[in-house]
Amino acid sequence: MDRAQMQKRLDQLVWRVEEARIRRSEHHIVKIVAVSKYATEEQVRMLYDLGQRAFGENRVQMLQERTEHLEDLPIEWHFIGRLQKNKINHLIRANPFMMQSLDSLELAEAMQKRLAEQNVTMECLMQINSAREESKTGVDPDEAVEIYTAIKERCPNIDLRGVMTIGAHTEEKALVRKSFETTYDIFDRLKKDGAQICSMGMSHDFELAIECGSNMIRIGSLLFK
Ligand SMILES: *Cc1c(COP(=O)(O)O)cnc(C)c1O
Repeated sequence: MDRAQMQKRLDQLVWRVEEARIRRSEHHIVKIVAVSKYATEEQVRMLYDLGQRAFGENRVQMLQERTEHLEDLPIEWHFIGRLQKNKINHLIRANPFMMQSLDSLELAEAMQKRLAEQNVTMECLMQINSAREESKTGVDPDEAVEIYTAIKERCPNIDLRGVMTIGAHTEEKALVRKSFETTYDIFDRLKKDGAQICSMGMSHDFELAIECGSNMIRIGSLLFK
């Protein structure tokens, strides 16, 4: 992919986001996280050069490599994948701008321990399994508010900023919408606890997610495939 093609993809994405957010509200702002797991380093540089600043990776090792190789660029890195407990220290070393996939109280407490040992904090989102799918990680929607408050109480080194979800994996739009609405409803209830970010929407469903209130979308294939 050359620069002109990349520019065109970014422009088209920004335009579609613009139309979707206006349908929600004129004042609704949406941040785009470019998920670079399908991209080469050169493509990340290219997109950065075109103005994109937030990037996401779903594997700790790739995140580490990229933060090192691209450290000359002030990129805002997001970790969005499943985190195994034995990788916590690696993640802390990579020092992402935000960790979006805190999927249980148990993981939060394990992270808290490591973060406290190293006397650092990390901004995180709590991941919700909004469609209650076996294959997906995340807290159960019925327990989400309770777990969010428990993490806030017990994990002072975790700076919880909101929630993240992956929409229902189905062609049925009504079910996808329902999973986004479930997540937004939880987000809404957590606003009084300081939740500000509702990260939902990927290449195939971001417009629907924005209509349901998402203010952060994670886009991979649409930009890089
Ligand atoms: C890969 C990935 C994305 C991006 O998915 P696309 O469909 O390629 O846009 C978003 N969120 C998470 C958690 C991912 O793993």
